[in-house]
Amino acid sequence: MFRKVHLYLTALCAGITTAILIVMSLLYLYLSEKELYENQFRSFQNDIITISTSLEQQSVISMEWLSKMEARGGYTFYALDNGIPFLYNRLTSFSESSEIRSFLDACLEYYESHYESVSLEEGGDSPYNTCRHVEFSFHPAETEQEFYISVIELKRGTSSLQLLVLSPLDFLREQITKQRVRFFLIDIAAILLLSLFSFFFTGKLLQPVIESRRKQTEFVAAASHELRTPLAVILSAAECCRDADTEKQSRFLDTIKQEGDILTSLVNDMLTLSASDSQRFSFRPAPVELDTLVINTYEAFEPLAAEKKLSLTVTLPEESLPLCTADAERIIQLLSILLHNAVSYTPEGGRIDLSLLHKKNRFYLTVSDTGIGIPPEDRKKIFDRFYRAEKARSAKGHFGLGLSIASEIVKLHHGTLNVTGRPGGGSVFTVILHT
Ligand code: ADP
Repeated sequence: MFRKVHLYLTALCAGITTAILIVMSLLYLYLSEKELYENQFRSFQNDIITISTSLEQQSVISMEWLSKMEARGGYTFYALDNGIPFLYNRLTSFSESSEIRSFLDACLEYYESHYESVSLEEGGDSPYNTCRHVEFSFHPAETEQEFYISVIELKRGTSSLQLLVLSPLDFLREQITKQRVRFFLIDIAAILLLSLFSFFFTGKLLQPVIESRRKQTEFVAAASHELRTPLAVILSAAECCRDADTEKQSRFLDTIKQEGDILTSLVNDMLTLSASDSQRFSFRPAPVELDTLVINTYEAFEPLAAEKKLSLTVTLPEESLPLCTADAERIIQLLSILLHNAVSYTPEGGRIDLSLLHKKNRFYLTVSDTGIGIPPEDRKKIFDRFYRAEKARSAKGHFGLGLSIASEIVKLHHGTLNVTGRPGGGSVFTVILHT
């Protein structure tokens, strides 16, 4: 399922970023090509101004001048004197083929149809009385080629000179094609990188969800497993109850009650952890006297310890302690879990010490016992849900949830909970809380 979601998220992320990239690239290309055309046209216009000014000042237009001007701008000139082509045209590359002729005709036709209204005025001092020039872009329908064209018209009395200046845009188009190809290749590389990035990025995003799903599945599996044993005992006791005599019946009913209590405590623990997971764990911090809470818990466990023939002691600082901001109910729950474990995992005749220490704005709550101890390799895992060290497996009514709840409580108080081995055997659990 997560594989599908991962692929879907990757496609979505890559799709959106690719779409943005393509739109931005197209926009950039459009603006840049527009600017290239405009710059080219402007420079063509400037050249034409220079050419027409120089033309105006000449009484005779020499072939040298024409070919020099052509070579300078990479242009092609076509001159008509009173409608008759210059000899220059016939001598240079501009041969009078029908193809070229029709191209020129189309050019002039376009010019006349668009710029007819502008008329040359009479007068002026130059050898040619009047001069005007018009620039436009021309794209003959049947060809791929595009040109900037200028028609310069000079008039002196009745004689007129028309000069067509053709600037092919092949170089510009080549430049634009190169730019497009470059962008295309860059975009393809960027899309590949973006897809890779999206794949890893969405994978990282999904990681906590996958992890929490895994934990949830494990939790449900472990919970079902733990619930099954007391339920099976209850069912079989109920079955046996049917045909048993009164004395046996009462024993079976006791078993049912006992297993029912175990089930209730397991379900309560599970509900506590689920409340903590969904941030519904009730937590009401207030200034509390930790020593009072420690004494109260100690007193509550005294009978249980005595029953198991364990010596339970409490150590408190002699000086008066500052108040600690904590949830009193949760602290008692935390100490109860630690003491309950200590009682459960310490054999008869053992010792349990409960102590409170205040040092450098920190409270140290310690529960140490001389019990079975926890192997170093298990010390990290015992805070995981449903985890029980091998040696503790036989303890009835222990499902491996107590320390998970304890560590959630400590987390809520922004404190720390750690476990160490006790020299000579046993375990030491230490809770550190801040004032
Ligand atoms: P449980 O209900 O099984 O005690 P906990 O989460 O409280 O669950 O403890 C997890 C495991 O940690 C226990 O099963 C046991 O193996 C180990 N443990 C906890 N406290 C002690 C202790 N005082 N002495 C030895 N082992 C302990």
